[in-house]
Amino acid sequence: MARTLVTGGAGFLGSHLCDFLLEQGHTVICMDNLSTGSIENIDHIRSEEFSFIKHDVTEYIYVQGKLDYILHFASPASPCDYMEMPIQTLKVGSLGTHKALGLAKEKNAVFLLASTSEVYGDPLVHPQREDYWGNVNPIGPRGVYDEAKRFAEAMTMAYHRYHGVRTRIVRIFNTYGPRMRLHDGRVVPTLIYQALTNQPLTVYGDGSQTRSFCYVSDLIRGICQLLVSDITDPVNLGNNHEMNILEFAQHVRRLSGTSSEIVFKELPVDDPKTRQPDITRARECLHWEPQVSFEEGLHKTIEWFSTRVLR
Ligand code: UDP
Repeated sequence: MARTLVTGGAGFLGSHLCDFLLEQGHTVICMDNLSTGSIENIDHIRSEEFSFIKHDVTEYIYVQGKLDYILHFASPASPCDYMEMPIQTLKVGSLGTHKALGLAKEKNAVFLLASTSEVYGDPLVHPQREDYWGNVNPIGPRGVYDEAKRFAEAMTMAYHRYHGVRTRIVRIFNTYGPRMRLHDGRVVPTLIYQALTNQPLTVYGDGSQTRSFCYVSDLIRGICQLLVSDITDPVNLGNNHEMNILEFAQHVRRLSGTSSEIVFKELPVDDPKTRQPDITRARECLHWEPQVSFEEGLHKTIEWFSTRVLR
């Protein structure tokens, strides 16, 4: 039976991963310092094969016994969070990744890094393929996250090349679904919350910047397929259905049935103008394809948020 460590396991993606891995028969150790993760996300888990360790992975990580897999998901991931915690974000991407890789080497475990579309920065190539090196401003406010993840990728490849650790890198594009934090500042929870409480929907800039939103269950399935593959090169995972943020706000209005108006606010510094994953590699190598339509995913997400907001 596989024994698996998920760092950041009490976060949005981490907790869905814990659920999925338990369903697949893994014994799961969830590690989190609860800076942006929450016990509420794992409270429902009743399995005896599950344990939680409160720990900050920028410090030495000690886990007793064997480990077959390490999924390194610890990091703030919302622009608001990493701008509020710039140094922790840099530390978890660099020191935390180093510690997690050291543990993978020690345990001879497969290591999977949660990387991000942010490694492409404000991209000059569209859609983004894995062989695009990106357009990142290292000293801008988003640089703390982007550069930490770029360093994390470099460190992961160094452990693979120098120490022979079996590594995987997933570049995650915008993902949404239940368990996103209501006030994490990202567009999906923010606009849904505003719609459900009849407040104006805040669109930054003129709303012409684009994103491509992937429902969480599709992403988790893809990550677990990548984990058991032998692909060392980075793999984009995301939904390639691209829309601009104004369209997104209109979908939220329609599906939530709110009468909230849309208001325009200043565009944050270095906000990427376009983003769409090229998922050819995932299609060809993993036979992976997103399955949940935007309509269905957004509907499920609004439903979940409404039980939180309106209770
Ligand atoms: N955004 C917005 N209104 C909000 C929050 C975000 O228009 O209340 C925009 C943001 O400027 C960006 C897009 O929505 O262009 C997605 O932002 P998010 O913070 O979700 O993540 P990002 O894709 O920028 O990492």
